[in-house]
Amino acid sequence: MTKAKGYAAMTAKAALAPYAFERRSPREHDVAIEIKYCGICHTDIHQVREEWGQAIFPMVPGHEIAGIVTAVGRAVTKFKVGDKVGVGCFVDSCRKCEQCEKGLENYCTVGTVFTYNSREADGTPTMGGYSDFIVVDENYVLRMPGNLPLDACAPLLCAGITLYSPLRHWQAGPGKKVAIVGLGGLGHMGVKIAHALGAEVTVLSHSLRKKDDGKRMGADEFYATGDPETFTKLKNHFDLVINTVSADIDWNQYISLLRVDGTMVVVGLPEKQIPLSAFSLISGRRSLAGSMISGIHETQEMLDFCGQHKIASDIEVIPIQQVNVAYERMLKSDVRYRFVIDLATLKG
Ligand code: NAP
Ligand code: ZN
Ligand code: ZN
Repeated sequence: MTKAKGYAAMTAKAALAPYAFERRSPREHDVAIEIKYCGICHTDIHQVREEWGQAIFPMVPGHEIAGIVTAVGRAVTKFKVGDKVGVGCFVDSCRKCEQCEKGLENYCTVGTVFTYNSREADGTPTMGGYSDFIVVDENYVLRMPGNLPLDACAPLLCAGITLYSPLRHWQAGPGKKVAIVGLGGLGHMGVKIAHALGAEVTVLSHSLRKKDDGKRMGADEFYATGDPETFTKLKNHFDLVINTVSADIDWNQYISLLRVDGTMVVVGLPEKQIPLSAFSLISGRRSLAGSMISGIHETQEMLDFCGQHKIASDIEVIPIQQVNVAYERMLKSDVRYRFVIDLATLKG
């Protein structure tokens, strides 16, 4: 075991604070990674506040991890010391079930081992990226784009793949009208990726405050959902709506914006259940779907795609000491567009 340093929540109501713990020494298939940057996902807030129940404390959050390999186990073939690597939302899975065989380890039927607030096969609680280093099996480690800054690429590991996967699955591309609801961490990656895929992209945001940013990222249109006219004007308009909002909003209103055979994909996670009218779906043979990150293979494909198209996140780099303030700002939608922690500040 090796001593690690990080920031943890000791209980659901507590602010994050410095925390010392231990990580395993690299086993033969493991890669040890010095964490340089870690993005702050809204999921981190849901988890440390135990909004989804059954949380494991102390909890070191963080699943948008970018760093440098410092050591490899003797059987490792995919990485070497000095490589720029990433770790996303999970660090292991059963490797045998139907979904793992298909490369969808994120939907492992036995149980995906998430990067934090989860347990390894032997029961050890996992600890995330708000820390100085991590040890992960090489099959769950990703190669970062070599041509883009590491800090701005950290958010690709959750926000990027969470939008890339449904955009690809529902075939966003030329001739398709795509709406991204919510221009936050996930949403802004969705705009950039959907634009690069060739779709016509519309942002549906609370207000027009972020309009210039949205257009710069590649949005063709930008509407305020605070204006009721938006819902009249855009009725029956989109092939695909991707909803990234974490607040309780009326899904029926957004489903009414779909054309015949259109799909709304939910990726944002409101705390409460959202009432749904059957009429929203049947009038137009519409579908309501969900999507959760993706497997290792598609995550690597997304990182390579982003490298090729020079897509990274718009970030605000912060010292770890400001993490609690960053959470409060995210809850007010006051982030342009992802906070990324510089882990060098953990040493100071
Ligand atoms: P975020 O950066 O906080 O962005 C959420 C955006 O939602 C905000 O920027 C805001 O956009 C909009 N919003 C917030 N409150 C709202 C309200 N009261 N009414 C209307 N719109 C509101 O969060 P994120 O990191 O992108 O994560 C979003 C959600 O996705 C979270 O619930 C997170 O847990 C979930 N998530 C899911 C997956 C998955 O695999 N499915 C992966 C990662 C995260 P505007 O200002 O533009 O309106
Ligand atoms: Zn996330
Ligand atoms: Zn499995």
